[in-house]
Amino acid sequence: MAITAAQRDRRGWDALAAAQQPEGRAFINGRLVGARDGRVFKDISPIDGQVIASVARCGAVDVDTAVLSARNTFEHGLWRRTEPRERKRVLRRFAELIRADVDHLALLESRDVGKPIANAVAVDVANCADCIEYYAEFADKLYDEVAPTGPNDLALIRREPLGVIGAIVPWNYPLIISCWKVGPALLMGNSIVLKPAEQSPLSGIRLAQLACEAGVPPGVFNVVPGLGEEAGQALARHPDVDLIAFTGSTEVGRLMLRYAADSNLKRTALELGGKTPQVVFADANLETAAYDIAWGIYYNSGETCHAGSRLIVHESVREELLERIAGVAATITLGHPLDPGTQMGAVIDHGHMERVLGFIDSGVAGGARVVLGGHRAMEDSGGFYIEATILDGVRPAMKVAREEIFGPVLSVMTFKDELAAVQMANDTPYGLAAAVWTADINVAHRLAGALRGGTVWVNAFDRSTMATPFGGFKQSGFGRDRSLHAIDKYCDLKTVWTAYR
Ligand code: NAD
Repeated sequence: MAITAAQRDRRGWDALAAAQQPEGRAFINGRLVGARDGRVFKDISPIDGQVIASVARCGAVDVDTAVLSARNTFEHGLWRRTEPRERKRVLRRFAELIRADVDHLALLESRDVGKPIANAVAVDVANCADCIEYYAEFADKLYDEVAPTGPNDLALIRREPLGVIGAIVPWNYPLIISCWKVGPALLMGNSIVLKPAEQSPLSGIRLAQLACEAGVPPGVFNVVPGLGEEAGQALARHPDVDLIAFTGSTEVGRLMLRYAADSNLKRTALELGGKTPQVVFADANLETAAYDIAWGIYYNSGETCHAGSRLIVHESVREELLERIAGVAATITLGHPLDPGTQMGAVIDHGHMERVLGFIDSGVAGGARVVLGGHRAMEDSGGFYIEATILDGVRPAMKVAREEIFGPVLSVMTFKDELAAVQMANDTPYGLAAAVWTADINVAHRLAGALRGGTVWVNAFDRSTMATPFGGFKQSGFGRDRSLHAIDKYCDLKTVWTAYR
């Protein structure tokens, strides 16, 4: 009997990795192609600092070709005019092909990002397939509207696809975030040009191949790997792209608005950074809170946009809660990502590791205390690993309290009363998510209203399904991924008014 991904051991994954030949070419008009000028860049794994693949370094010419192919398929209606039932079948087949390809996709994701293979299998690939399947189901179930009018008029309000979607995505969850854009964009009948992050280009290329194999016509889903300032900028400035669906840093999100303003006023949908507060009151269940707070910051090595990176705790329970969080952190296994027992892997690259360690140093220089971790780990591996870290005694004005660290570092602050807790929680430019821990339902509801974030968890953290929208307030962006609300980004409303006698 064949071994499933969930049953494979470290030796099995190592053997698969040794045999894997990742595809690094662009995928344009249904074909794998190198960059027109032949340039490539090295894709390095954070697991051990070794090169995994040589990847096409697409430039403006390649982006032009990909956008043209997307435009042509859109104008010819190859996909958008396909019967809704057939589009549903194709997208469902696409989801099944993703599931069937779990070994290969999970391995690409783990090797590119340094995330534990067990998570890549059970979370990244599984959620990616679920997302496509979720949107597939709407293809023949979404109705448009008829507006109320007088007896001699008929006003239809129709959703129409936008056209060519440029999707620019980050490296922390390449498959999931790509699918959050590809799913609703394809459902609505658009064509896509995807620009994966240069640190993690491989799974996106594979995804487009699988879509094509499932029956999405060639040219509808294209991928242009390359650098942000080259391929990314060319896509975002392209005069024939109708929407840039961007996920990434707030800094680059700001550039997207500029590029749109300087080119064709294309729409932009921005999913940006976060600095999520975990607000813990004295009456909270500290055992449950400690568990979720530890996993909320250490999962994916803290490289999660909504990671609960700020702990704002009532001063009377600070000591007990920190002890409990450190206790949970001690059970989280830091290790080689291809070991199925590993729960925390590497951070994305050497530069980012140095940046995270620099944040820890800056916290200490500002008077904070490292009460857990604080160092690089597993240096002999050649990869980039950081211990689970807690910085206590942080003050709200410090860099580690305000800026996104994007690593396994929890910044701890205390409060005396509810008003101070809310002020501290809202005191960053970000507003992606927040959590409140309390046994008092009145406090819970007051805070759910007062905290500025696209998601507020109450006595829980990081629970979600495809049915709940995800996105930010303030400088965490606008527009929503996931759920039916996400499809609004990928279509326009057209009123068709008919008068009759
Ligand atoms: P990043 O902004 O550096 O890069 C994101 C993408 O933009 C990459 O594909 C990159 O190549 C491209 N890019 C970079 N510079 C560009 C330019 N000048 N022009 C066009 N494209 C350019 O972000 P990152 O480091 O890859 O990812 C981490 C960031 O993403 C964090 O801030 C994190 O919070 C955020 N993020 C947000 C969400 C969300 O849903 N809100 C989800 C995941 C990650």
